Amino acid sequence: MLHFEDFFLTDVQNEMEKIIGPITRTIMMNAAIASGKKLGKRLFRRCADKKEAIIKCINNSGIGKVVNIEVSEKNKEAIVEIKDTVFKRVYKKRGCCTCSYVAGILSGLFSVMFGTDVNFEEVLCESKGDEVCKFVTVHKIGFEEWIRRF
Ligand SMILES: [Zn+2]
Repeated sequence: MLHFEDFFLTDVQNEMEKIIGPITRTIMMNAAIASGKKLGKRLFRRCADKKEAIIKCINNSGIGKVVNIEVSEKNKEAIVEIKDTVFKRVYKKRGCCTCSYVAGILSGLFSVMFGTDVNFEEVLCESKGDEVCKFVTVHKIGFEEWIRRF
């Protein structure tokens, strides 16, 4: 696993935001989805317990520390709570969600796990003062409807 300094990712994000604006998050997210899929294919080849593999991978990568993970392979849904993400460490308090890159990595990993594309959304973020960064799968039925189920 590659280790970066925390600020590498946020420096890229900051520079892109200056030049191209809010579309930056979509680019970071899409790049992360591609990376997460490649990572997932490698991870799951070696490890039978996919959930455990994801926890280990995130905890060892420096992305953050997984404090809760709930997975329904049948419904292709998941909730992942992470503390101290790389973005929170650099941005501290920013008043908004800052971890779209992490959401992208999770989207890629779980897309491989479920065998179908899923997307994660960050619904709570330490950067905006929440206790934890919380990521949930978003399905076609609509995010608002889905989140009401929890
Ligand atoms: Zn966050």
